[in-house]
Amino acid sequence: LTGYVGFDTITRQIEKKLVKRGFTLNLMVVGQSGLGKSTMVNTLFAAHLLDNKATQKASDPIRQTTEINTITHVIEENGVRLRLSITDTPGFGDQINNENCWESIIKYIKDQYATYLRKELTPNRDRRIADTRIHAVLYFIAPTGHSLKPIDIIVLKKLSDICNVIPVIAKADSLTLEERAAFKKRIKEELAFNNIVLFPYDDVDTDDYSVTEADRAEKALNQEMRDLIPFAVVGSERNVVVDGKAVRGRKTRWGSINIEDETHCEFSQLRNFLTRTHLQDLIETTGIVHYETFRTKQLVALKESTM
Ligand code: GDP
Ligand code: MG
Repeated sequence: LTGYVGFDTITRQIEKKLVKRGFTLNLMVVGQSGLGKSTMVNTLFAAHLLDNKATQKASDPIRQTTEINTITHVIEENGVRLRLSITDTPGFGDQINNENCWESIIKYIKDQYATYLRKELTPNRDRRIADTRIHAVLYFIAPTGHSLKPIDIIVLKKLSDICNVIPVIAKADSLTLEERAAFKKRIKEELAFNNIVLFPYDDVDTDDYSVTEADRAEKALNQEMRDLIPFAVVGSERNVVVDGKAVRGRKTRWGSINIEDETHCEFSQLRNFLTRTHLQDLIETTGIVHYETFRTKQLVALKESTM
């Protein structure tokens, strides 16, 4: 091919550089107390904590999360580094006065945007700003089998206005597969009824002539994920024996659950979604959509205050 300058390889070069640099994914868990948020934090890290005895203590006294707390682990797979931070939050919804119980959570998320903006506006800033912006909130829904609670709707609405939110049905082992499917359907209807739009957002217009095969595949994958969401998850910090093998799981009335088994629950689909298929999209959407909205508002307010 004459005139070929190899410009197309630029994307591969950029990709290589990005991959070498590694990724930072900041997650946050939110929801009522006792729904297994802290357990899920440890479950998501479990494969990397197997040698850590502290996480396997069988008889912890009742543990309560009383403040917003972040733990970070660097995970490396095939030479790619992922800095995974999970921010655990105290549960809400069970106090006598639930009014504004979500405020500290919303404030935390906005504070991370504000910190990032401050650093961005600093002259001679570091070439790479340490990113503490929350890329996804895992929102825990109680496995009632009926419907969302009024507080879920309020908080989901508030959160989805400022960041990527991924709802999960907590402690899914307390529902049968049929109950789970019906509950999931009901939740989807309620989200739609309340105009709560969640990640992954559909921004690819497949009627456009410039749409590529990759765009179409992405759109199909997003639709598949939208069908799956909310993920019905089970968390565990212990092993159980299933078919003679020790696996991460729980014993239930119906037998033992292997949380990694896709026919038992959707924990591994959730983990895949977060750390594989939608990792880059979560990070990009946070920067391009949510942070940008915050930034514009702040800068407009700043300008008005100095006029
Ligand atoms: P948090 O208040 O949301 O942080 O909840 P915790 O993680 O502290 O868990 C509360 C209780 O629920 C603990 O006894 C956990 O062992 C239990 N638990 C956590 N995840 C699950 C789950 O997926 N299924 C069941 N049945 N119990 C769970
Ligand atoms: Mg907790």
